[in-house]
Amino acid sequence: MTLLLSTRNPGKIAEMRLLLSDLPITLRSVSEIDGAPFVEEDADTLEGNARKKAETLHVFAGLPALADDTGLEVDALGGLPGVQSARFAGLFADDAANRRKLLADLQGVRDRSARFRTVIALADETGARFFEGVCPGTIIDEERGSKGFGYDSIFVPEGGNRTFAELDAEEKNAISHRGAALRQFAAYLHDRAG
Ligand code: IMP
Repeated sequence: MTLLLSTRNPGKIAEMRLLLSDLPITLRSVSEIDGAPFVEEDADTLEGNARKKAETLHVFAGLPALADDTGLEVDALGGLPGVQSARFAGLFADDAANRRKLLADLQGVRDRSARFRTVIALADETGARFFEGVCPGTIIDEERGSKGFGYDSIFVPEGGNRTFAELDAEEKNAISHRGAALRQFAAYLHDRAG
């Protein structure tokens, strides 16, 4: 079976290869598919964006396709940035600007609880299926660590005291939202393979 991945992110592709390495699957990234359409992530849910990316790629290439979307939900902000996480500080905001805005919005706020949520969509000729992973934690009030990306340096997962950016990749994968969603997807494939 060949599975197309809608991501161009080498880190995510490496994670998927590792988690699916014991299955007879060939993984190919969208960046290897000539002329694959660009998909605007304009849905108002993570599911909507993941579905849109996976279905567009499946229809274009005629192979099963996988796409993910992730959001950071902060309770004191009513679940924001959520599906807006990538563009929280503006359409062309980078990770650093998004972190700065989040810390500014939470200045003086005592309830710092939050969670990362990842939704993975698999689209094939039978339709779309979803797999979800959640990682609860808290937003600290200054950046710590340099290993991660996105909001990692201001997020401490529940039960720990180091930020995601202070953990090694393997440590983060073992507890992260994306790791959990990918393990669910891997379990589904294992079941299907019998
Ligand atoms: P995407 O869905 O993976 O494109 O991510 C949406 C937004 O969430 C981007 O701003 C990412 O930087 C951020 N993000 C996604 N996954 C993580 C993570 O594991 N840690 C920190 N930030 C993340």
